[in-house]
Amino acid sequence: MTKAASELAHLFRALKAPAASRALPALADRAREESWSYERFAEILLSTEVSARESHGGESRIKAARFPARKTLEEFDFTFQRSVKKTVIEHLGQLDFLHAKENVILLGPPGTGKTHLAIALSIRACLAGQRVQFATATEWVARLSDAKRHGNLETELRRLSFIPLLVADEVGYIPFDPEAASLMFSLVSNRYERASMIVTSNKPFSAWGEIFGDDMAATAMIDRLIHHSEILSLKGDSYRLRGKDLDARIGAKPAQLS
Ligand code: ADP
Ligand code: MG
Repeated sequence: MTKAASELAHLFRALKAPAASRALPALADRAREESWSYERFAEILLSTEVSARESHGGESRIKAARFPARKTLEEFDFTFQRSVKKTVIEHLGQLDFLHAKENVILLGPPGTGKTHLAIALSIRACLAGQRVQFATATEWVARLSDAKRHGNLETELRRLSFIPLLVADEVGYIPFDPEAASLMFSLVSNRYERASMIVTSNKPFSAWGEIFGDDMAATAMIDRLIHHSEILSLKGDSYRLRGKDLDARIGAKPAQLS
């Protein structure tokens, strides 16, 4: 290593800029060949480091969000799931809904891709620099009920309101008792026009009365959720069972549903 190169390596270490350090030799060659201005060279070298850091931040936000799996919009097969338009999902992926503090509601039977889309949109948000928390509706209720027991419900709700996107997956998977229904309502109300939610449910809104114990509670909840929201109704068979002749499976090991 020349003296200049080792001095540079030292300076990059001091700056904690490994991506720029790695990119430097090739960039310097290109700069000489293409007679870049000093400003252009500086800009490209620094932006290498900045974009490495931003995507790194994205990774740490993805970890912090606690997704049950990693799913992307690119992996979503719109030829199998024809009840949602690719253009609509791509538009949601641009995250206007998040900046407008609106919600996304994904309804449909098991296996139709609700959780997949919820995660994929959330990952877009993480990569765009937004914090996300993913949990099932049951887990949210448990978390809030814990906070309430410790007299911290308000604090917890306020803390959560600073997270731009919460996912409440599987609303209706198990019915709520009145206490749980009221905690879920607090969560939704607290975020109203303040921060976004993505909510998934395998039950249509018409069946939410059963989930929340009574129609009044369900109506209040739905009202709050849908006032500013994009509602997507997914239809069709479970993706897990694609290409399988269901009749032929009778007597076979039941397919796993969730
Ligand atoms: P839901 O939440 O509606 O029950 P999931 O999103 O969990 O369904 O989907 C079940 C499995 O099938 C997941 O592994 C998901 O990634 C996959 N899947 C569902 N729909 C699609 C699709 N249209 N394209 C690609 N994978 C899909
Ligand atoms: Mg799901």
